[in-house]
Amino acid sequence: MSFAALGLNSEFLTAITQCGYQEPTPIQAQAIPQVLAGKDVMAGAQTGTGKTAAFALPILQKLSERALPESQLRALVLTPTRELAQQVQASFDTYSQHSNLKSTLAYGGVSIGEQIKALKSGVDVLVATPGRLLDHLVKGTVNLNQIQYLVFDEADRMLDMGFIDEINRILRRLPKNRQTMLFSATFDDAIFKLSKTLLNEPVLIEV
Ligand code: AMP
Repeated sequence: MSFAALGLNSEFLTAITQCGYQEPTPIQAQAIPQVLAGKDVMAGAQTGTGKTAAFALPILQKLSERALPESQLRALVLTPTRELAQQVQASFDTYSQHSNLKSTLAYGGVSIGEQIKALKSGVDVLVATPGRLLDHLVKGTVNLNQIQYLVFDEADRMLDMGFIDEINRILRRLPKNRQTMLFSATFDDAIFKLSKTLLNEPVLIEV
């Protein structure tokens, strides 16, 4: 199995080659075609399985297929922690280096000014922790009206950390018509409940 066979374009294949990836990991092989096909996905995957590329690559490709004259915030990735947000955004940056797509970060514990500046300069992808994203929403410095792709990364940890109220408040600001992907290392009743409100006829993937 090759990345090209999954349906990825040359701008992303070049970036993948530069990363030194030889072939897709199992989560990538299963998730990438489904996301490209427009399906909602619920995936069980631990860190280290290559889950970030499993959602980042097809989202970037879909964004690039509908290129806009200027960047517009069309994809949102929610993560439980600042560290994960940084890792995920670094991956988006790497995979999008041969495209015109841009991504940025919003997490708490640091001044909000630089984040506002980066958001204003125009981005396609925002990787955020729930609390700081809400701060931006309240301030009016993030607009989620055009979001087409939504990812919950490490959803179990987000719930364990008590982010459900923030998540529900964020969800009310998101368009209903969107593609949603939920990644979680574990599945319990709380995750299934969340998935029911979030996902539309999801494809289940377990690796
Ligand atoms: P993740 O599970 O997304 O945190 O990824 C774990 C690590 O695997 C990261 O350092 C990635 O750069 C790397 N990685 C992701 N996909 C592949 C692949 N297909 N082949 C080799 N390494 C990969």
